[in-house]
This record gives sequence, C-alpha cells and structure tokens, in this order.
Amino acid sequence: MKKTKMMVGPTEIPDKVLYAMLQESISHRSLEYSVLQKKVTTNFKKIIKTNNDVLILTSSGTGAMEAVIQNCFSPQDKVVVPIIGKFSEQFAHMAELYGLEVDRVHFNPGEAAKPEIVIERVDDKTKGVFVVHNESSTGVVNNLEKFGDALKDKDVLYVVDSVSGIGGIDVSMDEWGIDVIFTSSQKALMSPAGLAFISLSDKAWSFVQNSKFPKYYFDLTLAIEYNQLNQTLTTPAIYTLYAVNKALEMILSEGINFVLERHIRNTKMLRDGIKKLNLELFVKDDQQASPTLTAIRVPGKSKEFVNKLSQKGIIVSGGIKPYDEDIFRVGTMGFVHESDVKSFLVELESIVKDS
Ligand SMILES: *Cc1c(COP(=O)(O)O)cnc(C)c1O
Repeated sequence: MKKTKMMVGPTEIPDKVLYAMLQESISHRSLEYSVLQKKVTTNFKKIIKTNNDVLILTSSGTGAMEAVIQNCFSPQDKVVVPIIGKFSEQFAHMAELYGLEVDRVHFNPGEAAKPEIVIERVDDKTKGVFVVHNESSTGVVNNLEKFGDALKDKDVLYVVDSVSGIGGIDVSMDEWGIDVIFTSSQKALMSPAGLAFISLSDKAWSFVQNSKFPKYYFDLTLAIEYNQLNQTLTTPAIYTLYAVNKALEMILSEGINFVLERHIRNTKMLRDGIKKLNLELFVKDDQQASPTLTAIRVPGKSKEFVNKLSQKGIIVSGGIKPYDEDIFRVGTMGFVHESDVKSFLVELESIVKDS
C-alpha cells in the first residue's frame, strides 16, 4: 500500500533527498566536504533571509536549544519565556536547570503568545526572551514579526526556536530583529535527524563574549572559527548534510515563497475539511494556526484515530502529554502536497462515518 506520510517530525523524506545520501564516505577535512558545507550554509541563509553566519551542529534541535543557553547566557541571568505548550515549557525548564532565572508567561493552550503582555515582564535585569516560533505540541504559530517590533529597543536577546518552522513558515531573521534562531534537519527540511542549524546576530555574539558557562562540544566561538574554513569542530553527520543540501536545493528551485504558500494552502484545505466533518480543531483562530501542523481534538480517541488512519495508509502523529489521549496531529510540514491532504480527508471522512 502506498503510504501518505503526514507526520510532524521526523517527516517524510523525498526520494531525491534519500538518493542524495548515496555517496562515498568522505573526510570532513576534505575540500569536497567544505564545498558541501558552504553550499548548505549559503542556501540556508536565503531561507531565513539573513546576512549572519549559519553554524552547523551535529545534534537534534534540543542540542541547539542547549547551545543557546550555554553560549549566550550566564547563571542567574533573567529570561522571559512565553509558555504556549510543551516545547516552550521545555526551553524554560532547560534554562532553569542551567541556573537561569526564568519568568514564565502563560497563555491558554491553543492560543498564540501576546507580545504586548510578554513585553511587560521585560525589565532592566532581563537578558533574553525565548519564543517558540511554532509550538509543535498544539499547532500554534507565534507572530515573530510582532515580537521583533515589541523587543526592538530592548537590550535583550530575542531567541527563537523555529525547529518546526524554518522551511515551512516564513522567517526574516534580519528584518524582524531576531538575535538567535535555530532549527533541525528532520522537520520542514525533509531530511533525517542529525543536524541542527543556528544563526546569531552581532548583538548575540557580543553576549557570547560575556557568557560564563563552560562548554566545548557546543562552543559557538569554536564553531564560527571552523565555519570560516567551511568545517565543523568535530565530525559532523555528513550524510545528513548531503540530504539537507538536496532538500534546500529542492526548496529553492520550487521557490521559497511557493513552498511557504503551499504550506498555507494545504493547512487551509485541511482545516476546512475538518470543520466540514464536524471535528474540533484544537486551535480555533485561523490566524494563529500553524502552517506546518494541525491538531485535531477527539477526546479519549486519539490513539484510535491514529491507528485507523494508519490501517488505511495515512501516517499521522499522536498527541503529546497532557493531550496524548485527546488530540492527534497532522503534518503539512515539508514534502506534503494537495493530493496528500485530499487522501487524508477522504480516509478521515470514512472513519468518522463508520463510527
Ligand atoms: C521537534 C522540536 C524540538 C526538539 O527537536 P529535536 O530535534 O527532537 O531535539 C524543539 N522545539 C520544537 C518547536 C520542535 O518542534
């Protein structure tokens, strides 16, 4: 049976990306490798619209979160974290484990963070604001441009986790005044897990100078030195880099704007179809609905829906605690097309009618 893969990460890997990994083993100190790294970072900068360097870490997205804390902050630094779901909470928790003073600003599940409320908590002692671009646990997208406006004249770092955004949702790092942004390879970048990508503004690099945490593996000062040679500090996940290289080529040849439009269009079709079936969308406001994933609320039945869809060849993701029994999540992230959304809706309808 041909499968329709609409997971929220790891996502479907296009055949072209899979085949791009069929390569001989090369050294990460070879010229061939440096050419590859240079191509990836150059293309990546186009995707997030920045002139800042893009650094490559061999880790999942969580490693990049940890790298930000280790490199830009020090114990007792105060940071403000709008909490809209599991991943924002994880970022706050991690900062606390490192001894930062974390001020959580809670918003209702299924709703975006309001920059005007978050900004009220930023005071003279605040060193950073951590915003999750796209909350993958609930399918809410935060408005990065508005956060950028609100934080424009503040002497704090504007840090963005765009692990489930970059490649599927518009990002304009420089224009929106983002100081640190990162993602990983296995979400909208349509590749296997293994690499994270992180970019820092000049202001963020000035914070790096003052950071007092010990670090080695994720030392971004070392990373940027090596990046000048188009290399990494330690052995990178070279095969994942081949994959990301091909994925970025695919995104740029389709056209980044067309790719972003496709995500928006597919999400709209998905949400309209779900409303027609009288199922409940977890995120009520279309403006706050993530273009890369949609959560559907089916109290007590999420596993049943995931299993029944799977029997029909449609692979979607379950919910994350505390919603693991009540919602399931459908990815429109990366290599998902209109025909996939249509197949999903057809099978979902038959499941709803049979039950
Ligand atoms: C997936 C995800 C992460 C964690 O990424 P890993 O690659 O699993 O470490 C962090 N933040 C968000 C928003 C995510 O979607």
